[in-house]
Amino acid sequence: ATPLKTLDPEIYDCIKSELGRQQSHIELIASENFVVPAVMEAQGSVLTNKYAEGYPGKRWYGGCEFVDQVERLAIERAKKLFGAEHANVQPHSGSQANFAVYTAVLQPGDKILGMNLSHGGHLTHGNPANFSGKLYKFVQYGVREDNGLIDYDELAKVAAAEQPKMITVGASAYSRIIDFKRMSEIAQSVGAYLFADIAHIAGLVATGIHPSPVPYADFVTTTTHKTLRGPRGGLIMCKEKHAKAIDSAMFPGGQGGPLMHVIAAKAVCFAECLKPEFKAYTTQLAANCKALCAAMEKRGYKIVSGGTENHLFLVDLRANLPELTAKKAQETLDLANITCNKNTVPYETRSPFQASGIRLGTAAVTSRGMNEADMDDIAMCIDQVLKAIGTPDEATAIEASKKRVLELTAKYPLPYTMA
Ligand code: PLP
Repeated sequence: ATPLKTLDPEIYDCIKSELGRQQSHIELIASENFVVPAVMEAQGSVLTNKYAEGYPGKRWYGGCEFVDQVERLAIERAKKLFGAEHANVQPHSGSQANFAVYTAVLQPGDKILGMNLSHGGHLTHGNPANFSGKLYKFVQYGVREDNGLIDYDELAKVAAAEQPKMITVGASAYSRIIDFKRMSEIAQSVGAYLFADIAHIAGLVATGIHPSPVPYADFVTTTTHKTLRGPRGGLIMCKEKHAKAIDSAMFPGGQGGPLMHVIAAKAVCFAECLKPEFKAYTTQLAANCKALCAAMEKRGYKIVSGGTENHLFLVDLRANLPELTAKKAQETLDLANITCNKNTVPYETRSPFQASGIRLGTAAVTSRGMNEADMDDIAMCIDQVLKAIGTPDEATAIEASKKRVLELTAKYPLPYTMA
């Protein structure tokens, strides 16, 4: 028996069950991925024992010579990966990275122009229940009702009228290319900082599949666990002139001791992302996303904004299954071992708890090695389940899809084992 199994069989069993779930389900949650075992090895290392408040060479504690090396490597690799002037690898999460950006240069009550949450923006872009919405005065822009695309002309008008101190760009559910150059022109025209949150698309940005905001934005943040395929965590990049403000906003401003084991795992992730194989991965990821999207469209589903140019897209169920809520869709797909999340669509007509959209992403299935042909199979399984909901065929459809899912997941096993 392993030490964990002996010491804490309850937690051991939970982890083993979760491994079984990951092995046997098709993971379409756009923000999830599967790390390589080396990332887990770094994260599960003795670095978890070390306190290292401060920055390399300027710590508040002794014994930091090796963690200093780790953090320096992580910083250098992140800068190289994105071509950034400065990087801070300490944020425990994407939300804490965003907290540091806001607090580095804004005062409570300052005005920020951010993307409407129901149009794809994130909680930290002004949700009233989040620190961002409580501390700052957010005004919002969104996508056009007729085509689902960011309306840059409208955005420029709102910016001119509102004169925000910062413009936040980036999304959790927007499937099109974001024009960062245009955003920076708008920000400059009103003297606002431009802050790009690339939490979702970072892997595509790092490999040139999506244009980079780094040349244009004052601040760029990302999570490291989505398309970058690293450990759960955050990363901030900025121009050199903002480096000091960002570093102090992160520590001591927003956090205490950094998670050195996670920073080591981030460094491993960045090294992986710098390899040509990672570009091959993100290329396949985008091709798979287009294939899954086309396979859903072929079966009569409406895609918000009419398609995808990144790793995700939103299906608006109202077009062909008007009675079906996204909550019910998500729950029923789960029974067929297909995991995705319900999501509001722009100009939503239901509550966020019921919602009308399902968000589908291909980062995780691509990491398993799946290809375009598999995407058609997955769409077939989704379609079979959704169309049968509430009919006498429901149970049979769920069973048939689950059988196909289990064949697929067995064909593409994850590289993890537990004793
Ligand atoms: N920003 C965007 C656009 C996101 O989609 C997310 C996570 O979903 C975050 C920030 C926050 O990341 P975390 O969950 O690590 O706080």
